[in-house]
Amino acid sequence: MRTKGKLTLQVVAFCWHFTSLRYKFYIMQIKPPLVSYCEQVRNLPPDDPDRKHHDHVHGFAVKDDNELFGRLIMEINQAGLNWTLILKKEENFRRAFEGFDILKVAAYGEDDKSRLLADAGIIRNRRKVDAVIHNAGVIRGLQREYGSFSSWLDHHHPMGIDGWVRLFKKTFRFTGPEIVNEWLMSTGYLPGAHREDCPVYDKVIRSGPEWLKL
Ligand SMILES: [Zn+2]
Repeated sequence: MRTKGKLTLQVVAFCWHFTSLRYKFYIMQIKPPLVSYCEQVRNLPPDDPDRKHHDHVHGFAVKDDNELFGRLIMEINQAGLNWTLILKKEENFRRAFEGFDILKVAAYGEDDKSRLLADAGIIRNRRKVDAVIHNAGVIRGLQREYGSFSSWLDHHHPMGIDGWVRLFKKTFRFTGPEIVNEWLMSTGYLPGAHREDCPVYDKVIRSGPEWLKL
């Protein structure tokens, strides 16, 4: 029995390791390392959507539940599309999803789905719209249980990307490894949003991102 148990453990450990490697490979393949975002925006004008996002949003600590949810909406909608396109539509998303109000979005029914799928200002993708509404309902549950979405995240922090990916997979819809990784870096739960020589790096540190509190 011991030998059998040991073998099972070895098989499980191998599968775990393989899955972990696969996620890392997947993340590396899909997008170039996020640190390149700093270089990518360096020569863009200050009012460029990517430059503004990089200088004032990306990697800064976020504590407001609706903003965290809004950022998740953006990441989910980016899947398979260009990030700049999503940034240009940010205000449209904010308007369409009523200021990213979790309570309101969680209550969306068929009329709201039809409205969203007819809104040319956002991404008209049924799976993404359904996932956003479903996830709003899940976040409402987390708010009831933990006090806030932010507290639920803090409860699990610190955790490596593999753990976060598994947690998000069993908790939410449409949150694959790339989306989870981007979202956690963007909201300050994982390091790596900016290069240390980026002019914005110190400002991000001063905002108190969670990854600093290990
Ligand atoms: Zn940067």
